[in-house]
Amino acid sequence: MPIDPDFYKKLSKKAEQHNNQASGDKHYVWGEGVERELDFTGINSHDKELVEKHISEKGYLGIHGTNVAVDFDLCIADGACISACPVLVFGWNLKPEEGPTSNGPGNNLNEYDKSDPFAEKSCIYCLACETVCPTTAIKIQEGLKDKIQ
Ligand code: SF4
Repeated sequence: MPIDPDFYKKLSKKAEQHNNQASGDKHYVWGEGVERELDFTGINSHDKELVEKHISEKGYLGIHGTNVAVDFDLCIADGACISACPVLVFGWNLKPEEGPTSNGPGNNLNEYDKSDPFAEKSCIYCLACETVCPTTAIKIQEGLKDKIQ
């Protein structure tokens, strides 16, 4: 289980929520900029190298979302969760250094783009995203929905 399900107990959240400028949806970001130990159990060596490269170049990005949590440090822009989600919870977030210009899947996707759970309030807890993520970067916890606004 590479993403730590207890992230919300161990990491502090930013006061300001991450905002999707298109939809107005917001979510919390946990542990941005805080070094932490990652669990690479079950992650292949290529994906592990990508994760380590991203962290060495960009630092620790932390975890986006709460009841639908995506570990941005484990996300490798595979995009499978975006396709799998029946209620369109996820959208592309952008290369951290470049602002709102995501290319999206199949269109010059950049490995530094991240899948962002912009619409976590819409989650129906089917777990499809958890199942398809190659780096197990997503954790769904319905019990945390009282922590979102
Ligand atoms: S659990 Fe299902 S509904 Fe919720 S974000 Fe994942 S794929 Fe979407």
